[in-house]
Amino acid sequence: MGKIKRVAVLTSGGDAPGMNAAVRAVTRAAINNNMEVYGIMRGYEGMINGEFKKLESRDVSGIIQKGGTILKTARSARFRTPEGRKEAYENLSRHEIDAVVVIGGDGSFTGASIMSQEFNIPCVGIPGTIDNDLFGTDYTIGYDTALNTVVEAVDKIRDTASSHNRIFFVEVMGREAGFVALESGIATGAEVIMIPEVKDQLKELREFLSKRAKSNKSSIIMVAEGDDEGGAIELSQKVQPEFPQFDIRVTILGHIQRGGSPTCYDRVSASRMGVAAIEALLDDQKSIMIGLVNGQISHVPLNKTVKAHKHVRKNYLDVAHILAM
Ligand code: ATP
Repeated sequence: MGKIKRVAVLTSGGDAPGMNAAVRAVTRAAINNNMEVYGIMRGYEGMINGEFKKLESRDVSGIIQKGGTILKTARSARFRTPEGRKEAYENLSRHEIDAVVVIGGDGSFTGASIMSQEFNIPCVGIPGTIDNDLFGTDYTIGYDTALNTVVEAVDKIRDTASSHNRIFFVEVMGREAGFVALESGIATGAEVIMIPEVKDQLKELREFLSKRAKSNKSSIIMVAEGDDEGGAIELSQKVQPEFPQFDIRVTILGHIQRGGSPTCYDRVSASRMGVAAIEALLDDQKSIMIGLVNGQISHVPLNKTVKAHKHVRKNYLDVAHILAM
């Protein structure tokens, strides 16, 4: 206990609402335990460039409600190389940093896991990504806010869709995972939900449209951007010629899903995880991610969270099928 005197915190990969709440929690929990805190700007790129900034309690005032990240974020090709990581580690040593807290997704944790092994420096990850695709945690910071943004937007699309009896293909984020599409699809009553985890859904979509051709009602087809049949534009182009009677429209929600003030759930989760990250370091943890499982804080080895695959909940898929008629 008490070996860690100075800790660094950074945000990396895609930004997510609630990252600021996590930065605030890490900073204040560390100060509360008599540690000094340095914020590293622009993720691993800033670690290599030496962009370190001492953080006091007041530096993280008034940010809990803000989207984005005050530390900025970046993707760093140089950190993928041993030379880049060596430069990064030399900057950590120069600033006498004893441990690093990384807020990001699986790519960021792969980097943290490698750095922790190469230089024997404790690294703790906090899951921050709107995709919710990290093994070992039920929720990632930003996911709840993104879901609520999608739900609000699709409710509006539904109003115009039903006024004109249109079929809307709505594309949401999720290159490799369908968590956002599945859960927001259930919440908005989407008639079909297309996600990468379920293969060959074109048949299901065609069957649905054939049935709908008789009733001529409006519909929402929720599509994860990484669906194996293509994104919303590609899918709509595949089916439009077979169903010329439909007035098909496409909406790609895009980056609005990343922005906005974090929800209460994301703020509280980020606050709990930030405090837990400092407690884990005090507990001598070296290379773990903080997770939330059944509402409780959990510790998952970093190398496990990047290797293992998190599956969408089968019972959510069942619910979606039962309710979409
Ligand atoms: P998101 O899920 O939002 O995309 P992410 O953390 O997965 O977030 P990535 O761009 O995959 O985002 O990774 C962020 C950074 O982590 C990369 O730019 C790179 O610097 C570092 N990183 C990723 N993979 C590795 C790796 N194999 N070795 C070293 N560093 C890595």
